[in-house]
Amino acid sequence: MARRLKLSIIIAFCFILILPLCHGVVFAASNSSNKSIVVGVPQDRCPIFYEDESNHEIIGIGIDLMRIAAENAGYDVTFKVIKEPTLKAALDNDEYDLIMPFGSAINSEKGEASIVSENLMETPFTMVTLNKHELQDISHLKVGMLKSLAGSAETVNTLYPDMQITLYEDMNECIEALKDGQVEALLHNSYVWSHVLQSPSLKGLVMHPTTMFTMDFRAGTLDTPEGQALIDSLDDGIAMIKDTQRQAIILDYTSRKTYKFSFSDYLHIYGNIIFIAALIILILAIHFITKQRAIKKEHESQIDKLIDYDSLTGALSYVGFRKKVEELLTAHPDFPYLISYSNIKNFKFINDSLGMDAGNSILKFWVERSFELLTDCEAIARINADHIAVLGKVPTDRAIDYEDNALFQSLRYYFINQGFDKEVQVCCGIYVLTPEDYTNINVDRMLDYARIAEKKLSEKRSDGFEIYNIEQWEQGKMLADVCGHFSTAIRDGEIKVWYQPQVDYKEKKIVSGEALCRWKHSKLGWLSPGLFVPMLERAGLIYTLDCYVWERVCQDLHRWNQEGKRRSVSVNLSRYDISHNRNIDEYFYNLIKNYDLDPKQLRIEITESAYVEDTDFLLETTVKLQKHGFIVEMDDFGSGYSSLNMLKEVPVNGIKLDYVFLKGEKNKEKSYVIINYIIQMLIHLDFDIIAEGVENAEQANFLLDKGCRYMQGFYFYEPMPVEEFEKLDFDDITKPH
Ligand code: C2E
Ligand code: MG
Ligand code: MG
Repeated sequence: MARRLKLSIIIAFCFILILPLCHGVVFAASNSSNKSIVVGVPQDRCPIFYEDESNHEIIGIGIDLMRIAAENAGYDVTFKVIKEPTLKAALDNDEYDLIMPFGSAINSEKGEASIVSENLMETPFTMVTLNKHELQDISHLKVGMLKSLAGSAETVNTLYPDMQITLYEDMNECIEALKDGQVEALLHNSYVWSHVLQSPSLKGLVMHPTTMFTMDFRAGTLDTPEGQALIDSLDDGIAMIKDTQRQAIILDYTSRKTYKFSFSDYLHIYGNIIFIAALIILILAIHFITKQRAIKKEHESQIDKLIDYDSLTGALSYVGFRKKVEELLTAHPDFPYLISYSNIKNFKFINDSLGMDAGNSILKFWVERSFELLTDCEAIARINADHIAVLGKVPTDRAIDYEDNALFQSLRYYFINQGFDKEVQVCCGIYVLTPEDYTNINVDRMLDYARIAEKKLSEKRSDGFEIYNIEQWEQGKMLADVCGHFSTAIRDGEIKVWYQPQVDYKEKKIVSGEALCRWKHSKLGWLSPGLFVPMLERAGLIYTLDCYVWERVCQDLHRWNQEGKRRSVSVNLSRYDISHNRNIDEYFYNLIKNYDLDPKQLRIEITESAYVEDTDFLLETTVKLQKHGFIVEMDDFGSGYSSLNMLKEVPVNGIKLDYVFLKGEKNKEKSYVIINYIIQMLIHLDFDIIAEGVENAEQANFLLDKGCRYMQGFYFYEPMPVEEFEKLDFDDITKPH
């Protein structure tokens, strides 16, 4: 009995093993006779339809259900991913025998009617929103769906006609629309949601099971006799699917871990950590780079130091000197500079007799003493051996005297003071910089000139100074004397305001005066404004001088007003004043207000050349001055290169004819013709005219005859101190003066 039982168990076991094989044979046999059909499916809705990454086949709940139904109906089925954007469009493609999934029959893109199979399964559809608010009434919602679900959207629309459905290209677009508030909810298959919502970036989205409704899941094709036959037999196959089979398939796919984490998912989860790590790396990298740069810079500056400085004396090297000279000349184009090149005459003998150390010590002493004497705007370099170059300011003392020079005298007695019978003689060549040296800086050339002077001296076998360009030296010294002494001159009252009367020759009266400054230099004696005004302009000091002059003139006008003598005076305005103070009109206005003057009393002269060089801003300034009530005159008209056309543009009240027109005996007749026509033209243009530089009666009578009655010149009066000016009888110029 037991043996029989054992045998029957073995037979049953074999039967169990063999049965599936037999079934396989039968199945294979039946397969070989099956008809093949192609079913078009989407692949963007895991777990219903999606691509198996291991073999790139399309799998999913929909695939398995369809395969079973088709095989039940005796078909071999191949699945193809539809390329068309919608199922409707795919219906028109005859590559597919069937398309799925459909909720109900819809017309194809071309408007052909379609038919659908029996329902393969009930698919739940659910809404997803941004937050947990209850969705009470879904029938009026604004809802977003995938474009590939257009068929389902139509079905939803038949269920909820008031629902506003917008279709989007892909899930990302759907999510964006929801976040932007374009739609209130997204609608999709719940199985798909259970997959999609596993993405960490969609963690905030909320599924609403309360909004769930089911949709049919059917295959469809065009309504043709063949289509009808295919659908009929497929329906038979669908009818044979058991519910348990269906549920097993759904359970199988919904329990699989189908969601694959993408890079952006990891970014979402670990974003903060990645960000902090990246930040730390960045900070470390920046720190590293800056440190490297600082080290490199330090190295470079050490190398530069080695290149730019002389290690023995601490003076600049030749290379460093070139750089420093360029720097200083650019920074101080107004300083009168010289370059000296000095050499100890018998240096070789010092080295040979007293030793190298003695030679080195005098060089160090030389540089140390020089450091004490030089300012920050000067520089010293050891070019080689005992050759020392200096960029220094031209001294303000009139002469340079070797015997008086503190440095060279201390060098001369350096060794004697140490008990050696050795006098040190220095030859110093000097080159005084020209204006061109400031614009076209060539240190080598300047040093060459200084060296030539030094050579000349040493060839003469004497020590001391030799100047390469003596005229430049004189000019440089003059510049140094003028500009270097200017502030002292103002303080000590060396500069005075003089007045030159201006007359009405017709009425024989003094009508006004021009303020002209005079400088009695403590060392140079009387200086002409023609000399020092351009120097002060170049050095940027003219504004200080002019402010001083204007103030003095206003004081005098105020005093005369109080004495009941209401007068007017012309003052000169340099174009450098206007670039120095861009609101010069305000300055003048405040000045006359301070001294309680009428603006008409302070007439302002601006030279013709200034109008040519700085036209726009000067025109503006002129108009502003006139608005304050000042009278503006163009000075030196005819001395420059202005075009007559300019008279159209320049809004001045009066013109001062330059004395060039009257000067000299040569071509006198032609000069008179020109003056005549100019006067006529200016009268027609309605300008007031005054002629300056009138030196004799002939000129005065001619000018009056041609219509110019106002004049200024030595024929009437020369410029004079204020004390003399105020004593003049303004009503009678015929009295002796
Ligand atoms: P300017 O404004 O054209 O002044 C007239 C110049 O002509 C004065 O020279 C005056 O002395 C001179 N002069 C007057 N009558 C005659 C004459 O009959 N024959 C000759 N040959 N010359 C005569 P000055 O005082 O030497 O001034 C020269 C220039 O220096 C002035 O020309 C003016 O441009 C400028 N200047 C003078 N003082 C000042 C000032 O305080 N500030 C400014 N920015 N410039 C001034
Ligand atoms: Mg003038
Ligand atoms: Mg003038």
